[in-house]
Amino acid sequence: MDQLLLHNLNIIDPFGEREFLEHASILIEDEVIKFVGRGYSHVDFEGHILDMKGKIVLPGIINAHTHLYSTLAMGMHPPRKSPKNFVEHLQEVWWKLDRALDKESVLASFEAGLMDCIQNGTTTIIDHHASPNLVDGSLDLLVNTAGSFGVNISVCFESSDRNGEANFMDELSENIRTIKKYASNPYVSPRMGLHASFTLSDESLEKVSKALQGLPECGIHIHVAEDLADEKDAQGRGYRSVIQRLEKFNLLSNQSLIIHGIFMTREDRHLLLKHGCKLVHNPTSNANNQVGVLETEIIESMGPGLGTDGMQNNMLKEAKEGTLVRAATDSPSVNYLELLFQNNPDIAVKIFGKLIGHIEEEAQADLVFYDYDPRTELNTDNFSSHLLFGFGKPSDVMTRGIFRLRNHQLVDMDEARIRENSRKQSKRLWSAMKAL
Ligand SMILES: [Zn+2]
Repeated sequence: MDQLLLHNLNIIDPFGEREFLEHASILIEDEVIKFVGRGYSHVDFEGHILDMKGKIVLPGIINAHTHLYSTLAMGMHPPRKSPKNFVEHLQEVWWKLDRALDKESVLASFEAGLMDCIQNGTTTIIDHHASPNLVDGSLDLLVNTAGSFGVNISVCFESSDRNGEANFMDELSENIRTIKKYASNPYVSPRMGLHASFTLSDESLEKVSKALQGLPECGIHIHVAEDLADEKDAQGRGYRSVIQRLEKFNLLSNQSLIIHGIFMTREDRHLLLKHGCKLVHNPTSNANNQVGVLETEIIESMGPGLGTDGMQNNMLKEAKEGTLVRAATDSPSVNYLELLFQNNPDIAVKIFGKLIGHIEEEAQADLVFYDYDPRTELNTDNFSSHLLFGFGKPSDVMTRGIFRLRNHQLVDMDEARIRENSRKQSKRLWSAMKAL
């Protein structure tokens, strides 16, 4: 039995059992937190004791929706033809990028993206993957790369008709194979990935629905009503809305992840609540795509999680920027820390089937440490303001009781090699995109 006692810590676990606890200790045994509090007596304690020198510790942070495949998009050339709307933006930018990806550039995207997650304290990632020219085995590549960084990963392939029927069938098979393979892996949560209603025919949705009936319990992970075009498409096919279309094919369950939902109706929200589906809000992506701001009423009634949709891997920044985007629109304010530190752990617990996202007994020992030296008093009443406006990057990150980042240095990972390779692969990827 491996025991590790971390002492001299200040705990911030918003919405957890202990929101703010100074001079605390955490005892870890075999990947799991066994004690949290003050005054742990270590008489007869034979494990390893580490003085954390007054660092602040947060629970491992969760990103409830992202696309690691888009990691190499930073700095790429603008599209030849300027997109005039949301669908054209997908066609000219993202669907060219995903088609240009090959095995080397996919691996470089995963490595550079996951490294950035660790360096920003994001230890659980719910990913939505697309690489239509590397379908078979792409999710194994993601699971294995995530495993080398020690993060929890939810994987799925965003199946779609947009590259033809044969491609859709390969993507569906990749989801099915992955769900069967990783259903009982504690660090992996496989999902049934769908791109969006408007790129899937009724025949394809029927195939997905049939496939799910023979699989271990797992929900769909799908973009919904990110733009009005998605709703108009569903109506054009004879449905009242995207959500009602998904319900018609029995695709809504208490394991479903519904992403965006900006143009959902009140009736749609009732259906999602009835089935226990989880909504995920991505404020910086919505602002970047100019698709609108998710209504405060939807946030209050649905309790969504917080994702970045590939925009970044620093979740405290996403919470801050979400707050500011909303402030610029006259919308009533939203507590983004509640989405991040309450709703995201709720989603993660549900889809991984174990306690993650809080610092409490029996939780997986995923912890993020900051050597934050506040310029004003930090206390139980004002830590939210420090989290949003003061915290920088963490100094140390631990997952499953093992340090992955120690004093700002990656442990057992060659940062220089990963960065050099991702720069090289980004150039290859961008020139492949130009040819499409
Ligand atoms: Zn997305």
